[in-house]
Amino acid sequence: MIGPGQDEAGLKARSAPANVQTSALLAYDYGPSHPLRVKRLDLTGQLIKACGLPWPEENIAPASLTQLACFHDPGYLAALEKFSDSGQGDEYYAFAYGLGLNDNPAFPGLWPMARLIAGASLRAMEKVISEGCPAVFVPSGGMHHALPGRASGFCYINDLGIIIRHLLSRGHKVAYVDLDAHHGDGVQWPFYENDRVLTISIHQSPLTLFPDSGLAEETGRGRGLGYAVNIPLWPDSDDDIYITCFEAVVPPLLRAFAPDYIITQLGVDGMWSDPMANLGLTTRAYLHCFRRLKDLAWGRWIATGGGGYNLMNVARCWTLAWAVMLGRENTLPSLLPAGFCARHNLDPEDSFLLDPPGLRHGRHWLRAQEEYKQALTYLKTHLMPRWGF
Ligand SMILES: [Zn+2]
Repeated sequence: MIGPGQDEAGLKARSAPANVQTSALLAYDYGPSHPLRVKRLDLTGQLIKACGLPWPEENIAPASLTQLACFHDPGYLAALEKFSDSGQGDEYYAFAYGLGLNDNPAFPGLWPMARLIAGASLRAMEKVISEGCPAVFVPSGGMHHALPGRASGFCYINDLGIIIRHLLSRGHKVAYVDLDAHHGDGVQWPFYENDRVLTISIHQSPLTLFPDSGLAEETGRGRGLGYAVNIPLWPDSDDDIYITCFEAVVPPLLRAFAPDYIITQLGVDGMWSDPMANLGLTTRAYLHCFRRLKDLAWGRWIATGGGGYNLMNVARCWTLAWAVMLGRENTLPSLLPAGFCARHNLDPEDSFLLDPPGLRHGRHWLRAQEEYKQALTYLKTHLMPRWGF
């Protein structure tokens, strides 16, 4: 029986969002010429703390082989472990498993890192489903390209697919929203025929960017028809386009699907200055989405990181995301804190946390207008009616 004191403590626990972070995740390095810099997690933590927000660390258990095997093929896991130990691959590994290609190199500690990333996301899931946290942010997660039997796009283990499988095995319905500039292919395809998983991805068009999927026409198959949603955007798509697309599909479909849990991949490589993609977003578009996701997902929200190759953009966007979850947006400074700027050689007069409003029309902007309207028209004609819209 729960007494008044315990009930109050329970309510308090349920009202507090949490993060999952461990310094052990900062110890790995894809190599000096690889665009994915693990340092961005450290930079994010530094900026969050410089803004006066809490960012506790904890010990995290690496995912077990059994936990990984709910999504990944055993043969692939064995190959990944062996590949990591040997520190080198051969042509067979590259051909069969995507290991050892430029995107997915071997490096010391790869296998422990992959298990730790999955362990962190599983920990985030437990905090939401067992400890009553209304939202949990795990920026090390979001490896959305890894497939059950293949590494792809800097991703070796798909932590998102793993936690979706765990939630399904407990009888839950799951919605997945992917904000990364690249299509969330490693989550879409394994659940493409599943009507208990709704995947929504807004990304740069596969006609112009990796991977080779994510067209609006990909809407699911069999029982899963209508449960995969894609909005491909043309290069130079700006904040207004992005927000229009987000609003057209994410709130209505999340409400209609009524999932038990909502997983969001908060990749921020759609920022205009990201070196790996060509969208034209500022922190304002992401802030809008973070606020709306909070409205829609509160109480059942597992938020992971994702892509982002301009390190300062990553730190700024994920600081905003965490502040939104904490309800501390109003306490944030408009400029990056002076101590943080000094430490990273930034001009404190010109280093914004939230980008100032302004028009940024890149040279493909007119085509971007046509393309997003075309994608939305397709979805309004072929997909939304399945949901009663
Ligand atoms: Zn990406």
